[in-house]
Amino acid sequence: SLPLAGLDPELAAAVSAELHRQQSTLEMIASENFAPAAVMEAQGSVLTNKYAEGYPGRRYYGGCEHVDVIEQLAIDRVKELFGAEAANVQPHSGAQANAAAMFALLNPGDTILGLDLAHGGHLTHGMKINYSGKLYNVVPYHVSESDLRIDMDEVAELAREHRPKLIVAGWSAYPRRLDFAAFRRIADEVGAYLMVDMAHFAGLVAAGLHPNPVPYADVVTTTTHKTLGGPRGGVILSKAELAKKINSAVFPGQQGGPLEHVVAAKAVAFKVAASDAFRARQQRTLDGARILAGRLLADDVAEAGITVLTGGTEVHLVLVDLRNSALDGQQAEDRLHRIGITVNRNAVPFDPRPPMVSSGLRIGTPALATRGFGEAEFREVADVIAQALKDEQFTEERAALLRERVEKLAFAFPLYPHLNGEAA
Ligand code: PLP
Repeated sequence: SLPLAGLDPELAAAVSAELHRQQSTLEMIASENFAPAAVMEAQGSVLTNKYAEGYPGRRYYGGCEHVDVIEQLAIDRVKELFGAEAANVQPHSGAQANAAAMFALLNPGDTILGLDLAHGGHLTHGMKINYSGKLYNVVPYHVSESDLRIDMDEVAELAREHRPKLIVAGWSAYPRRLDFAAFRRIADEVGAYLMVDMAHFAGLVAAGLHPNPVPYADVVTTTTHKTLGGPRGGVILSKAELAKKINSAVFPGQQGGPLEHVVAAKAVAFKVAASDAFRARQQRTLDGARILAGRLLADDVAEAGITVLTGGTEVHLVLVDLRNSALDGQQAEDRLHRIGITVNRNAVPFDPRPPMVSSGLRIGTPALATRGFGEAEFREVADVIAQALKDEQFTEERAALLRERVEKLAFAFPLYPHLNGEAA
């Protein structure tokens, strides 16, 4: 057997159980995906052993001749993919990318504008107990109550009133495209930097299926593991004149040694993301989200008090609005979990229920598109979700029928078949 199972059977059993969970259920957490086997191979390689503080050609450790090649490949590929002038591929995560980018551009106490967490923003865009909320003076902007879209008039008013040094555009739970040109105009008017956090939609941008923020923003941050489909990690793209500041904010400002095994896996993911197959997959991701939104807007679902925020989607996720439903976010999440569909509950803007319960679900299609789902499969899973959520009496019998439909879909699209029989 493989070394892990022999050395640590307890741990190996849990890994094996997780593999089985991923294979036998339908993953619809909008921020998740399945990394290709080649990405996992790079991440599990000997690179995990190497210290490489510094940057290619300028390291503080010996023996970096090969990791230099690897990191330079990652840098060149991600610059090409997004048309960026400069790239730092070392941030350990999306949160670290944002921390380093802000560290480069701001001093403690400076004012930033970011989308309110409760309206779809991320923790690092100014949540009170996050580093961003503690170090900087945060002025949140919101979606408007009428159409639940970002209120650009409010963004402009707040910018004029508070004169921020940085405006952050980007989201974790928002189903529409952002108007990067409008954000740029506002930033220019008040002399602020514009940072776009494209963590969620970077894969769509790479595929040319979503506007690219790079031409508009001073800095663009992203994760590499969401729609982009690579290893867990972060990247900072910027204008050339900010590159030096950003590099020194990442190292030595925020981090020590880079994770070169993850950098290598990022390089592989960027190569994959430049392919025609990746573009087709992102198109299926978008089609799947639109199919799901369409099904959840149908009359039979509306009768249960359930609808879709903003009446649809332009990205890879759908936000289900349960404010007028007897079912709350927690109950809805549990219901789908019971039939083998994994999603996360999510507060919706102006949510009357407390955050731990919430009145929303965030449902994404990237992982299923990676698995191979096309229109027919997305239509089937959309109907399963609709049936589960609208049902007043969700009996064990009803649940079992839906669970069968889920399992049939899961087994029709085998995941990581080469790993079967490993670990356990
Ligand atoms: N930025 C956005 C918009 C996100 O949605 C997330 C993750 O959910 C992050 C940053 C943080 O990424 P990580 O979890 O890798 O720190």
